[in-house]
Amino acid sequence: PVAQPVSASGEHPPGAALVGTKYVKVPKNDPSQAKEANDAPKFPVAPRMTAAKDRVPHVASMDQYREMWQRSVDKPAEFFAEQARELLSWMTPFSVAHHGDLNHGDASWFLDGTLNASYICVDRHAFATPDKVAIIYEADHPDRPHVEITYRELLRQVCQLAGALHAQGLRKGDAVGIYLPNTAHAVVAMLACARLGLVHSVVFAGFSAEALRDRLRDCQCKVLITADQGMRAGKEINIKSIADEALREAPMVQKVIVHKRTGNPNVKMDPTRDIYWDEAVKSHRPYCPPVPMAAEDPLFMLYTSGSTGKPKGLMHTTAGYLLGAALSTKYVFDVHEGDKFACVADVGWITGHSYIVYGPLALGTTTLVFEGVPTWPEPDMYWRLIQKHKLTQFYTSPTALRALRKFGDEPVKKYDLSSVRVLGSVGEPIDPNTWMWLHDVVGKGEAAIVDTYWQTETGAHVLTPLPGAIETKPGSATVPFFGVRPAILDPQTGEELEGNDVSGVLAFKQAWPSMARTVFGDHDRYLETYVRPYPGYYFTGDGCTRDHDGYLWIKGRVDDVINNAGHRLSVAEIESALTAHETCAEAAVVGAPDEIAGQCVIAFVTLKHTHIPTSEIPALLTYAVRRSIGPIATPKRIIIVPDLPKTRSGKVMRRILRKIVANETDSLGDLSTLSDPSVVQTIIDLYNNKQ
Ligand code: ATP
Ligand code: MG
Repeated sequence: PVAQPVSASGEHPPGAALVGTKYVKVPKNDPSQAKEANDAPKFPVAPRMTAAKDRVPHVASMDQYREMWQRSVDKPAEFFAEQARELLSWMTPFSVAHHGDLNHGDASWFLDGTLNASYICVDRHAFATPDKVAIIYEADHPDRPHVEITYRELLRQVCQLAGALHAQGLRKGDAVGIYLPNTAHAVVAMLACARLGLVHSVVFAGFSAEALRDRLRDCQCKVLITADQGMRAGKEINIKSIADEALREAPMVQKVIVHKRTGNPNVKMDPTRDIYWDEAVKSHRPYCPPVPMAAEDPLFMLYTSGSTGKPKGLMHTTAGYLLGAALSTKYVFDVHEGDKFACVADVGWITGHSYIVYGPLALGTTTLVFEGVPTWPEPDMYWRLIQKHKLTQFYTSPTALRALRKFGDEPVKKYDLSSVRVLGSVGEPIDPNTWMWLHDVVGKGEAAIVDTYWQTETGAHVLTPLPGAIETKPGSATVPFFGVRPAILDPQTGEELEGNDVSGVLAFKQAWPSMARTVFGDHDRYLETYVRPYPGYYFTGDGCTRDHDGYLWIKGRVDDVINNAGHRLSVAEIESALTAHETCAEAAVVGAPDEIAGQCVIAFVTLKHTHIPTSEIPALLTYAVRRSIGPIATPKRIIIVPDLPKTRSGKVMRRILRKIVANETDSLGDLSTLSDPSVVQTIIDLYNNKQ
């Protein structure tokens, strides 16, 4: 039987799928969509993966990947039980590996086992390899010396803070807010919570007071861990005063622990509520026993980045999540003993949770925490870090790479980047040109590129190449990770599209350990968003093409599709055509209402630093789109803007641009997750020719 999309009310408008709580128009299966994918070049396993004779990749061939993947989806309980015994440490061993399913939203893993995430990430390495560096902390300024924290020292710091939290009366199950800059202290704070079974809710320190307030209230945090100030591109950010403003309307937060990041004497402390971190921890002994947690006890909750609407507070569990983070760090980045791993996201995002903190530390790896930005003081900060620490894995985002590519190749070429074996990308579809730049200029054609597709909800990678085994194609997240059984569905009928050369919406057919278990405090929203749209499947909300080789290509959100006179145009494809042009740095394409065609294409672009806006550029870009996709994709207008509206994690918020081109600027919606709200007015003015 074919799964039919249903809503709570049972209605289903034709040609639409449920995204969140609203129906949106989505693409039908259109074979021409696979064309670009089928024309893409293919790259063999990168030379650096096999360069050292004594270091064989964990998965070293396509056959080995196929065999492992097949077993992981055919016998998930068996496969993941083995992995969970190997990669985690259990206080009480589990006997039930898997229970529940997607249909009922009750999938759960290793149910009767107990463990502690802080023990797994810290203690066991502090006992085995105490002097190994756990964390390298690089501050916002390159002249400030970096800090190295060994596993032995990390255990002390985590225990002392856990002692302080315990002394505040916090017990297993209580929620703690963390609003800290991206420093080693943030990692310590997360692990101290995990040690006591406190559910941490990290809020990215760039968020406003209102955004922080809403998140603290949503999970009823009793304590907030924050800092006096943050540093971003050399500027002080008054984190404590933003927190104070949030706390005025979040009275359930009774205690505030303040890390002295800058020590600015003007920062106000409320003596009845606030205490400095150093003061709070100094009376506690540097050992504190870890609290045994049930496998399915919450480890943390975290909000999605808010690209499409009101952020969802997802809840992740102790064992399933930690296994996903550790397993993917090991296999996707091919981590080996002696590696130095860097994920330059912020701990405020799921990428930071899984690949700065839990994944690398669970494996006992050295992880780098970078507080700064890639382009300040010079657009070479990443490359400097790689050379300085001889980093072996480097994980970043398309948005950062596009920002760096604007400055050309010279800043990269100044550095020796030969230590890097794996370069990762996450957050948005990476356009083939940016992929090629990463491959050719940063990786010199020798490092592996892993374009990892996943979500806050998935906890860990779900589509990704394994660098020692899978041939790559620029722009494709390639193949499913262990435990993930992807399906491409016809958005209208919910019918599964079998075989290759098909396009539709991406869904997953069975549960995997690291998937989020619920939306905090609103399980019905969880079912409504992920499970009910296509019963029996987990619905991602992203469009996807499977090409003739069976490789998967994410085509952006299902609502990021333009219907031009019946032609379904992929926003991601038009944007790739634009950024392929030498003048264009970034592009965001949306559909505007059009009397004749239904929808027409409008493109907003930023230029590389080497080019100034001229009246010819839009014509050149138009030609580039026509040549690469065809006249049907011709943008009706191309508007050169100084910047695109982006979330604080750097994702383009196309929904705002859609409102602008539809003349609905009075209902722009929730802007609290936008990194620079002032660009919105500039874009409105440029669009209306007022500038
Ligand atoms: P919200 O759900 O609130 O709208 P969000 O989806 O941006 O926010 P995240 O969970 O941080 O929040 O992002 C996951 C989404 O990011 C994916 O659903 C997908 O659209 C996009 N994405 C992430 N990695 C990739 C990738 N490698 N290729 C293509 N798209 C990606
Ligand atoms: Mg999302």
